[in-house]
Amino acid sequence: MHADVLFPINAEAFTYIVPEELESKIKPGQRVLAPFKRGSKVGIVTGFGGDKLKGKEIKLRSLKSILDEEPLIPGNLLKLIKWAGQYYMSTSGLALKNALLSAFFTGRKPGKARVTYDETIKESKEFALTQEQRMALTEINKPENGVFLVHGVTGSGKTEIYIKAIKALPDDKKAIVLVPEIAITAQMVDRFRSRFGDEVVFYHSGLSTGERMTQWQKMRNGEVKAVIGVRSAVFAPFENIGLIVIDEEQESSYKQFEGLRYSARDVALARAKLEGIKIILGSATPSLEAFYSAENGKIRYLELKQRVERRPLPQVEIIDMTMEDKQTFSFSNKLIDSVRETISGNKQSLIMLNRRGYSPFPICTDCGYTYKCPACSITLIYHKDTKTLNCHYCGSHLVQQALCPQCKGTGIKYLGAGTQRVEEDLHTLIPELSFTRMDRDTTRKKLSHYRIVKQMEEKKIDVLLGTQMVAKGHDFPDVTLSAVVSADITLNMPDFRSAERAFQLFTQLAGRAGRGDFPGRALIQTYEPEHYVFDYVRYHDYKGFYKKEIAQRKELFYPPFSKLIRIILSFKTRETAKKTVKDISGRIKRIDHKGIEILGPAPAPIEKIRNLWRWHLILKGKNSRALRRTASLVLEKIRGVRNIKIDIDVDPINLL
Ligand code: ADP
Ligand code: ZN
Repeated sequence: MHADVLFPINAEAFTYIVPEELESKIKPGQRVLAPFKRGSKVGIVTGFGGDKLKGKEIKLRSLKSILDEEPLIPGNLLKLIKWAGQYYMSTSGLALKNALLSAFFTGRKPGKARVTYDETIKESKEFALTQEQRMALTEINKPENGVFLVHGVTGSGKTEIYIKAIKALPDDKKAIVLVPEIAITAQMVDRFRSRFGDEVVFYHSGLSTGERMTQWQKMRNGEVKAVIGVRSAVFAPFENIGLIVIDEEQESSYKQFEGLRYSARDVALARAKLEGIKIILGSATPSLEAFYSAENGKIRYLELKQRVERRPLPQVEIIDMTMEDKQTFSFSNKLIDSVRETISGNKQSLIMLNRRGYSPFPICTDCGYTYKCPACSITLIYHKDTKTLNCHYCGSHLVQQALCPQCKGTGIKYLGAGTQRVEEDLHTLIPELSFTRMDRDTTRKKLSHYRIVKQMEEKKIDVLLGTQMVAKGHDFPDVTLSAVVSADITLNMPDFRSAERAFQLFTQLAGRAGRGDFPGRALIQTYEPEHYVFDYVRYHDYKGFYKKEIAQRKELFYPPFSKLIRIILSFKTRETAKKTVKDISGRIKRIDHKGIEILGPAPAPIEKIRNLWRWHLILKGKNSRALRRTASLVLEKIRGVRNIKIDIDVDPINLL
């Protein structure tokens, strides 16, 4: 008897002999210990077909032992892992590595780690559903399966729909709820826990390994009804699943940017299809792809036009910074006055600047010296709290010196603003204000998101300031003001999706205001008030924006009209890059790429990251199968080339 064993490495399954005494015990999905090179490795049994044997004479080795009595990974999940490896033009092994915690491959047994939730659960009441909520639920609860787009304005009660749809599942069916940010899970978890108690678990990287192993086991044993998690929870080991919910489906954080570059939304769609179940995509600002599918009848469209209790959407005002007197680096008079007014009315504010650190552009005004990351073609960002210059790409940093490294002068100035500077300005302008900063730097510790959200909920602070983390999902009834300090950062990303991102982010942020009994407003500061995005943000006009943007996508033949595969080529030196790329161009020319455009190879917009010089090829085509076929042909040509690292990004969401 032979068994195929998959390891969490970039490869397909390996075949082993099953020793006779194990034959009756071995099952797919179990962990086994197998000899590997000179040592041994833990892997997962995927089948008994002897995948690698066909027509080959290979000397097989025997498995050493079986580590689980019952399979750790159910069969449906094994299928999904295989699908992901293929779809992303990667390997099943790499997909497995993403699906299962690495601790399981050390042979460690899940313990009894207690999962800590903070403090008490806020009692949340049951409501009479709005008519729009009821209509959406009626559609969702019909017996037919399918994909639903729940397009509901901010505050229209989408979460309530998710909860009710899960409650409507038969007793033995489980649900997966994906949210884009750990910051959001805090409130979601509270809301779900108040309705499902211990029947719901949460699963994300903010938990310890032991905790995550415990959660995995609970899901595996069918002890819980639902899981709420970020990206990797799409691989939850439920055997009998009935519903998947993707909240804020348009979020780019569902996409992984390294290794297996999967999109949790798309893997979820594939999982729903494989399992023959329903899936809900929820959003106030759907991705163009999702809305386009709905428009073309490929998925079901359910709309919630009204906020619950007919609360008004916030008034949005665009502040033209070229016309404003500024009080400090970041604040217009208007914005700071509005923050003051809000506090005096005993209400709260959210202030967003989508860049962390203090100054994105430190420069010596004497000699013009600017700080570049030694490993990346990226300007370093000054972080005042640590007095370091940080690279936001590779994570390395330099310690800041008082004098300019080039001219040894004292002319260093810190231009531009990040969240730390906004924090400082806010403190200068309103010394008595109590506020917290939420960005990646302040939320590294476990449960820190949760604590910050609690501070807001319990009104211990007047203002929550931060990066896009503050814009999404939160439901704070006393927030009546939300503000963007600089819209320009988001608008000026050099990417075909930047307008879409900007529209979504500003609309999301605006939507945090006025969710309780008091109306809200949103202020957006920009140096480019004539940008077309604002015409639609101002009126919460998703459909208007969609119409404008989809026409451009069509003209440029970008998704959803085409599909993209990006192949990133990395080299150790600029010279090898140039030489090798020339060779590659020659090889690729000969490919018969019917109907598929091949752009490049050209230097990537960020030419160097982590000491690797990056070039890319972008393949564009209408027909997904033809596109993948061409990509394989290109890869075949490149794979023989030396001194090159190849990354494949299927459905890339940025081209940097
Ligand atoms: P969305 O996700 O669409 O932005 P939420 O689901 O967060 O909206 O709901 C907004 C607020 O309204 C929440 O505080 C929620 O508890 C409340 N809510 C939801 N449905 C109703 C309803 N039918 N009646 C009254 N309040 C509701
Ligand atoms: Zn760097």
